[in-house]
Amino acid sequence: MGHEFSGEVIQVGQDVTDLGLGNRVTGNREWSCGKCYYCVRNKPALCVSGVYAGKHVNGCMAEYLVAPANTLHRLPDCVSYEIGALVEPLEVAFHAVRQGKVEVGNTVAIVGAGPIGCSTILAAKAAGASRILVSEYSAGRREMADEFGATAVIDPASGDPMKTIWDLTDGLGADVSFDCVGSGESPLAAIDFARKGGTAVIVGVFSEPCRMVNFNDISLTERTVVGSSGCANEASFVIEMVADGRLDPSALITDTIPLADTVRFGFKELIANKHKHMKILVQPSQ
Ligand SMILES: [Zn+2]
Ligand SMILES: [Zn+2]
Repeated sequence: MGHEFSGEVIQVGQDVTDLGLGNRVTGNREWSCGKCYYCVRNKPALCVSGVYAGKHVNGCMAEYLVAPANTLHRLPDCVSYEIGALVEPLEVAFHAVRQGKVEVGNTVAIVGAGPIGCSTILAAKAAGASRILVSEYSAGRREMADEFGATAVIDPASGDPMKTIWDLTDGLGADVSFDCVGSGESPLAAIDFARKGGTAVIVGVFSEPCRMVNFNDISLTERTVVGSSGCANEASFVIEMVADGRLDPSALITDTIPLADTVRFGFKELIANKHKHMKILVQPSQ
């Protein structure tokens, strides 16, 4: 909690040369070492000694945040702080689309239309996917998926979602599918939705293991199942795309609240009315 943020630089460390006071920035959750096997191969989320803002160290639900300079990215003046705070989840979605090697003209299926599912719709569209099929239980979130540009939105409670995906894809399934939920049977749905030889990308983060995999669904279909963790320097182009308007994530913001109300109007509101919300922004200075 507390790893998606934007803000103004008010102080810099002695050796920092590429950031100055007054710079507007956003940043990444992974504070990676920059030197290990994974870091030198542009896999900062896999860093052997990385720490996460908001997990291992204090995060950004605060007025001030201390962060390593190399984890921050400058925001152009035309990108608001609100949109700047959405750069990280967009990066996660673009990273997932890269992990799935989505190609122009592909059919993509997405399980879950939460913030990452909806960001993945935007990323898949940007990557040239021709059809984006989204499966989501919540009516409110299905509407959001539609708004973000899904070509078909499926309610898995109203019939067999796999059959619907097949009906929509001439009996084949999606070229690339994504689990953007990370609970229960969501990864199995993502695997089911991928065509033979297709790819299922597991983006969700699980609080408990899912042990119900029938590995025939992988071996006999020659599907590829690939993980996606965090991001890997997708910020540079995500910031360019929100700056010039090619990417508009503003509908992800469903409320903005003062820092002092984070528990009452943030966490409790999300628990009570999860399906009304995507991202609730916390404003420290209000
Ligand atoms: Zn490292
Ligand atoms: Zn995030």
